[in-house]
Amino acid sequence: MVDEDQDEWMSYATAGYGGAVDPWDDLVPVESELEEEDHLDDEDMYEDEIPSLRDLDAPPCPAPKGIRHVIRLGCCNYCLARIGGRLNPDGASAFDHGFRIRADAVAQDPTIVENTENYCPFCEDLFEDVDNIVIRIIREIGEVEFSTIQMGYHISKELIEEEDILRKKFGARGASPLKSSFAAAVEYALKKELENVQMVKELPDVMILVDSLTLRVKAEIRPIFYYGRYRKLAKDVPQTRWPCRSCKGRDGGCESCNGTGLQYLDSIQDLIGEPIREALSAEDTSFHGMGREDIDVRCLGRGRPFVVEIKKPQIRTIDLEEIVGKINKEGVEKIEVESLRPSNRSEVSRIKETKAEKTYRIRFEVEGEVSEDAETQILNLSGVILEQRTPKRVAHRRSDLVRKRQVISVENVVIEDNEIQFDVRCQSGTYVKELVHSDEGRTSPSVAEVIGAECSVLWLDVIEIHAE
Ligand SMILES: [Zn+2]
Ligand SMILES: [Zn+2]
Repeated sequence: MVDEDQDEWMSYATAGYGGAVDPWDDLVPVESELEEEDHLDDEDMYEDEIPSLRDLDAPPCPAPKGIRHVIRLGCCNYCLARIGGRLNPDGASAFDHGFRIRADAVAQDPTIVENTENYCPFCEDLFEDVDNIVIRIIREIGEVEFSTIQMGYHISKELIEEEDILRKKFGARGASPLKSSFAAAVEYALKKELENVQMVKELPDVMILVDSLTLRVKAEIRPIFYYGRYRKLAKDVPQTRWPCRSCKGRDGGCESCNGTGLQYLDSIQDLIGEPIREALSAEDTSFHGMGREDIDVRCLGRGRPFVVEIKKPQIRTIDLEEIVGKINKEGVEKIEVESLRPSNRSEVSRIKETKAEKTYRIRFEVEGEVSEDAETQILNLSGVILEQRTPKRVAHRRSDLVRKRQVISVENVVIEDNEIQFDVRCQSGTYVKELVHSDEGRTSPSVAEVIGAECSVLWLDVIEIHAE
């Protein structure tokens, strides 16, 4: 299963950039030479008018003439910092660094006419929204507990394209593009507000999407996953929540479900998920089992592997041992969980895809006398390949075809009057009840076939799921 929303998110995520790395530290410090050379020029031909953006005469930054040119164009301090090509050895904020570059340029040539009338052509004043965006992010996150955050940004394509042309013409070689600089500015400001939060590029606790056009900020709290194995000790407990057949679980339920909206009050999903959901103040749960047993089948042994997904948790840290204790106490005689550990969405796929062999204990009744060689005949099913046509009981939801499944081993045959019990290990996907009663010949061979008598199943337990 692919985590689609994560993938979609990734396409908005920023490219990697290191705030601590100076992108220009590989440049040779040629500044002083350029400076002198520059002063020899009689350069300020634009003195009296604001030059056109298309002016091709200006050299790119970090030449002083180039810096003066972009200042005249109305370049903001943030953009001056990123396209100016000047070292920022003390790691000042982008705004402060840009401010310094501007001050230097003005000190060298006080005649610079600054264009403060129009937008900064390199960002359309996008950076002026940084503080506002940070306020919105913090408001949007609210009281949620998190330690990692991933940011994504929507910036208009036209602006990105125009900026790219201008930057390549006037900016320093290797200047940082608008999007990553904008991201860095937001994250720089955000880190001041959220000191212990780490910015990550994947698997965050919270994802933030910023739309730079509308200034809309969307926070998405990522789910938490826990892995465990459950033993199901009672019958009539479905694995996942089972909505009422009459009302389909719509709001408020109906008479036949006593307003619960559920066909069965308990489910493994809720017996395990609800105590966790409550502890994490979460919205809901999803339950992912490594296969599932029929509702009337118990699951014993080491239990069935599962991953429970807790959606939109307000809290992310809990004492797992304490929660396991609570689950076992509230689910007493219905379910048991040995332990829980943190998991992730890729483990959900692994669990869903694992085809584990299972061992069952099955007990059935034989019509008439049990023949003397019944035990041998049953043991001889060990190793056979079954041909199982889709059982009648599931034919309404599965396509009708013949599946081949292997019986790995048969043991512990117990015969008591006309009741027989045995343990059988078989390939994933074997219909075990049908292996016994034959489903009117749709499964072959079968116990009924080899002992030559009608068999009806009394009960069935999963006693081991051979995974891990
Ligand atoms: Zn700008
Ligand atoms: Zn109902």
